[in-house]
Amino acid sequence: MQTNRDLDIKEEIKKYVTFLKEYDGETLRLMEVCGSHTAAISKSGIKKIISPKIKLISGPGCPVCVSPSAFVDRLIELGKKGAHIVSFGDMMRIPGSTSTLNEEKGKGLLASYVYSPLDIIEMAKKEPEREFIFAAVGFETTIPTYTLLLDRIIEENITNIKILTALKTMPEAIDFLCMNKCDIDGFIAPGHVSVITGSDAFNEVSSKYKMPMAVTGFSPYELVLGIYALTKTCINKEKYISMGKSLVGNYYKSVVETNGNQKAQRQIDKYFRKGDAIWRGMGNIPNSGLYLKDEYLKYDAGSQNLNDDKKINKACRCSDVLMGKISSKECPLFKTLCNPLTPQGACMVSSEGSCYQAFKNND
Ligand code: SF4
Repeated sequence: MQTNRDLDIKEEIKKYVTFLKEYDGETLRLMEVCGSHTAAISKSGIKKIISPKIKLISGPGCPVCVSPSAFVDRLIELGKKGAHIVSFGDMMRIPGSTSTLNEEKGKGLLASYVYSPLDIIEMAKKEPEREFIFAAVGFETTIPTYTLLLDRIIEENITNIKILTALKTMPEAIDFLCMNKCDIDGFIAPGHVSVITGSDAFNEVSSKYKMPMAVTGFSPYELVLGIYALTKTCINKEKYISMGKSLVGNYYKSVVETNGNQKAQRQIDKYFRKGDAIWRGMGNIPNSGLYLKDEYLKYDAGSQNLNDDKKINKACRCSDVLMGKISSKECPLFKTLCNPLTPQGACMVSSEGSCYQAFKNND
C-alpha cells in the first residue's frame, strides 16, 4: 500500500527528472569518483533519460583499478617465495607488468580470494608455518576493516600475517583532478567514503577550486536527487559564493554526518600515516596514500616504493578514462580486443571499473 510519503517521493522524483531532462543551459560535466556510484548510475539508466547537456563522467573510483602494476608484481614475488596471497576477487585478475595472480595461481602460486580481510585469520591459524599476505587495497570505506584485522593480529599475537598496502584517500585525488584541469564542473562525492570521512572532508578542495560537490547515496532516488542538487549548485555557483554558502551539499544524511565516523577515523590514525601514492594511469598523487606507521612496520610486507605502473597493452587509454578525458567507448580497444574476458586494462577487470560498466550496460 502506498503511503503519503511514497507519493511525496514520487512527486519529488518526477520534478527532479523533468528538470534534468529539460535542462538546456551550459553543458555540465559531472564526475563520480566512487565505483559503486559508477555501477549504480550505469544500472539505473539515468544517463539515457537526462539532457545531453548534463554529462555524467566516471572517474577514479575503483580501488582495484587504480592499484599500480608494481603492487601486483610484489604480490606475485611474495607468493613465489612461498607466502599465501589473499585478496578480494577482483584483485586476482588485475594485471601486473607481465601476469596476474590468477595466471600465477594456475602455475602453482598459492593465492585465494575472500570476502572479508578478517577471513585470513582462520586461514593463517590453520597453517602457522606459512606466511600469509593480505593485498590491502581500498579507500577510506575499506581501511577501517584493515585496522580491525590489525587489532586481531596484535591481540591474538598472530605472527604469520602481513599486509601489503595500496590504500588511497579520495579528497587528494579530487584535488589532483582539479589541479590538472580535468574540465569537470562538479563532483558527485563518494557516498561510502563520506560515511567515514564526513561531508566536511570535501570542503577544503571545494573552496580551493570553487568546485560544486554533492554527497549522495546509491538508490535511483538518491542518485537523481544528488545530480539535480549538483546541477542546481553549478548553475547558482557564483551566487552561492557571493553569499558565502558552501558548494558542498550532503544529500545522504541518513548515513553521512558532517564529521563522519570518528571512531573509524581514530582507528585509521592509530595505524596509518599519510604518504604519496601512485594511482594506475594517473601517476603520483601527493599525500593520497596511507602506510603503516613505523611502530607497526613488522606487519608490512614491503608496501613502500611500489611505483612501477606498466600497461599490458600500450593502446589502453585507462588513464584518460580515469581522468575523465575520454569515455570508455572512445578507446580504440573497447569491445574489440578489450572486453571482460580479455581485459586490456584495469578498468575492464573490476565490476566497479568504468570500462566494465560501460561494456555491461552499453553506456
Ligand atoms: Fe583500457 Fe580496455 Fe578501457 Fe580501453 S576499454 S581504456 S583498453 S580497459
